[in-house]
Amino acid sequence: MDHYRLFIGGEFVDPGDGRTFETLDPGTGEAIATVARAGEDEANQAISAAREAFDKGDWSGLKPPDRSRLVMDFADRMMTHAVRLSILESMDSGGIINRTKTEVFLGSQMLRNLAQYAAGSFPWQEEIPVSGNPFFPGRNYIVREPIGVTVGIVPWNFPLTMALWKIGQAIIMGNTVVLKPASNTPISALVLAEAVAESSIPKGVVNIITGPGGVLGKTLATHPEVDKIAFTGSTEVGREIMTQAAKGIKKVTLELGGKSANIILDDADLDLAVDGVLFGTFFHTGQICESGTRILVHDAVYDKVIAKLKKRVSGVKIAYQLDPESQMGPLVSAEQRGTTESYVKLGLEKGFNLLCGGERPEGFMFQEGFYYKPTIFTDVDNKSRLAQEEIFGPVACVIRFENDEQAAGLANDSIYGLAGGIWTRDMKRAQELARNIKTGTMWINDYHAFGDYCPFGGYKESGIGRELGQEGLAEYTQTKRIHISSEGDQENKLGFQMMFSYPKSKSFQYIGPTKLNAGHGALNSLNTEVGLLSCQKAFVISDQGVAAAGLLARAEKALGDFWVGSFTDVPTDSSFETVDTAALAARRAGADLIVSLGGGSVMDTAKAVSVVLEHGGKATDHIAINRLTKAGLPHLAIPTTSGTGSEVTNVAVIKNQKVHRKVYLADNHLFPQTAVLDPDLTLSLPPGLTASTAMDALTHAAEAMMSLKSNPVCDGQALAAINLINQNLPLVMKNPQDKEARLNLQVAAAMAGWAFCIAQVALAHALAHTVGALHEIPHGTACGVFLPVVMRFNAEHADGPLKAIARALGIGVEGLEPGQAGEEAANKVEELMQACGHPTRLSQLGVPQEALYDCALHAVADPVCIFNPRPVTDPGLVMDLLEKAY
Ligand code: NDP
Repeated sequence: MDHYRLFIGGEFVDPGDGRTFETLDPGTGEAIATVARAGEDEANQAISAAREAFDKGDWSGLKPPDRSRLVMDFADRMMTHAVRLSILESMDSGGIINRTKTEVFLGSQMLRNLAQYAAGSFPWQEEIPVSGNPFFPGRNYIVREPIGVTVGIVPWNFPLTMALWKIGQAIIMGNTVVLKPASNTPISALVLAEAVAESSIPKGVVNIITGPGGVLGKTLATHPEVDKIAFTGSTEVGREIMTQAAKGIKKVTLELGGKSANIILDDADLDLAVDGVLFGTFFHTGQICESGTRILVHDAVYDKVIAKLKKRVSGVKIAYQLDPESQMGPLVSAEQRGTTESYVKLGLEKGFNLLCGGERPEGFMFQEGFYYKPTIFTDVDNKSRLAQEEIFGPVACVIRFENDEQAAGLANDSIYGLAGGIWTRDMKRAQELARNIKTGTMWINDYHAFGDYCPFGGYKESGIGRELGQEGLAEYTQTKRIHISSEGDQENKLGFQMMFSYPKSKSFQYIGPTKLNAGHGALNSLNTEVGLLSCQKAFVISDQGVAAAGLLARAEKALGDFWVGSFTDVPTDSSFETVDTAALAARRAGADLIVSLGGGSVMDTAKAVSVVLEHGGKATDHIAINRLTKAGLPHLAIPTTSGTGSEVTNVAVIKNQKVHRKVYLADNHLFPQTAVLDPDLTLSLPPGLTASTAMDALTHAAEAMMSLKSNPVCDGQALAAINLINQNLPLVMKNPQDKEARLNLQVAAAMAGWAFCIAQVALAHALAHTVGALHEIPHGTACGVFLPVVMRFNAEHADGPLKAIARALGIGVEGLEPGQAGEEAANKVEELMQACGHPTRLSQLGVPQEALYDCALHAVADPVCIFNPRPVTDPGLVMDLLEKAY
């Protein structure tokens, strides 16, 4: 009798105590070989060998293509043992030779396929384009690395294939492995060991030990040097392994039992379906975890199916597994046949109809082996043990159903969810049903159809994790995320600020990618600008006021043939609904360019629309900070107020009507590509709106100056803007037709926008957003009212910037006491507002006094508060400030 030895550290060895066990041919019941019986010592030795081989790095550290070439070498060497492997596999496991010979070939192909995939296509490293946390800017990527020492424990039904899955996936991904085959079927794995030894795979990468699962399993699952356990077998043992592995928090993948449903619909090709369900159930004598052992048959074809099943199954040839004509061999063991018989007894006791089988085949050649006839019970109750428990023998239950919903219900009424089949000519119906079944694999008009690139594994108690395909390979890796900060200056780190107090940072990034066309008659450049953006179909977003002032008609004319439509229903505070409606209209018009014409709400709507059109979905899907990975549809902005140039920025503020809050879409991909500033378009702006939009721009500039993120580039823009607004707003109020002053206000607004979109705004905006959302106070007006009180609030904390602001407002700052510049600048802003007839108190805007505390709470929660120089965390302080503004 042949003798097989353990394979540890590249050597074939016998255990220290010399113990062996016999393995039987289930077709004859005779022993065919003796096999070394490993104990705890040998398990420890195998783990040490695997550990050493992994830690050495000459396998785990290889580049995937180099490692894959060595695995392919192993695959080829295995094929030199093909005939021996298939005969031994048949003799040891009872698998018919017609199957085992293809399995050797398919196994070597699997190794080649997955090795090639790992070398070329597997995502070992992936960039994360956007981290999702604006507090920690930088590059992020993941690398997938081998886990370490893996253990594979495999069952007796497909010993060779299961061994190859476990060894193959583990080593292809750079791990080392200790494999434990089932005691009933140890031979093929040890022949594989010969191919490993002949290949160039380093010693210790693959180790194979045979012996009792109960003993070895415990060592393997609990050993501190083991990093992952991959098990295929019964749910009970899987549960035990998971429990043992839990102590060491080891990664576990389990491929366990099943009781899959094979569903014949009323429109199926019945001959195909009947062969399919018989193949799905009785292939390899029913000893397959994914077998479709619950045959669900539609009422309308039930009788026909039963008759065909009976006829067809009677033709299946049961014979010794090496007989080339054998279609069904023996069960793996006397024990497994005993289990099968006990379930048949149970079915008979329950009174289910025995359609066929239910006994051992008769004849001289079946006397010693563990054969059993294919057995079908009909009209089985799905709740019965026969239909609920995994038998792992040639026993099928036929269950009747009336409609697809009921079929799905029956299929799902199981603790398992490994696989399933559907037989029908209607693919739409089949796909819908497939989606309704809670299982890891569904085959339509097929069964047992595996593929190296197709993941396999279970729902529910059928297991966790997947084998094969990218998902299966990924199970043999662990994911490491690497973050490389783009901030080298600790003072600039927003995250650190939660724990440390810093002086204001001197480092910054600047971006300002909008092209500006400014000046009288700039609107005439529109046609050229559209062409420069390589666009053909310009869709205008605007509002009723702008349309009524005749500006829309002028813009449409200037666009000429490029104009494809306009949306004019943007309200004062744009909402998700507005954005979605406008996006729909633009999409219907086939727009490839969004032109915004109007004030801040129009600009914000247009930015969000351009994102929705390019990225899909709805407005609410895109509310985020720095999440976009590419720009939206091109956007050309035409501001028509004295403040909307400020909206030529990277921010869109949209109102969420449901919660009465303004929310942000902030992203550098949001900058309009081009802005046309034509003072002719602002000539008709009423004085009140001129003042309030200019105050919006002034607040942008002043807050950018005071902000914790201010920087010299933005300071320059902000101060120039403040200076221009201070000088030109009074001129425009005096003579609304003063084009030069109008243009200066537009340019000032644009600069204020560029300043704040990098340097940020702060508390005045938080307050303006709050009263805008809760009490519908126009944004610019609210900004004006809040700016002086916020300047006073920040006076001590932003003395330097406030001095610069005061100077830009024309105030002499020589000799001012620290903190005094805030007061002076605030007074000047109030004077400016009064001179323009702009409200200066909250009470003038119609905010009820009793609403102030609510406003304070909302404002404190506004994210821009983090940029305010004086910390804004105490709603009480903000309440004081609101009262002062009142
Ligand atoms: P097991 O699940 O017991 O055996 C599978 C593998 O696990 C074998 O290598 C076995 O080794 C090993 N093993 C057994 N006990 C332990 C343990 N405590 N710790 C670690 N490893 C262990 O299957 P059986 O052979 O006992 O069959 C029982 C039933 O399991 C079958 O009737 C069938 O229902 C189901 N089964 C399901 C399979 C599937 O693929 N889903 C495959 C095989 C069986 P050893 O052989 O030395 O005991």
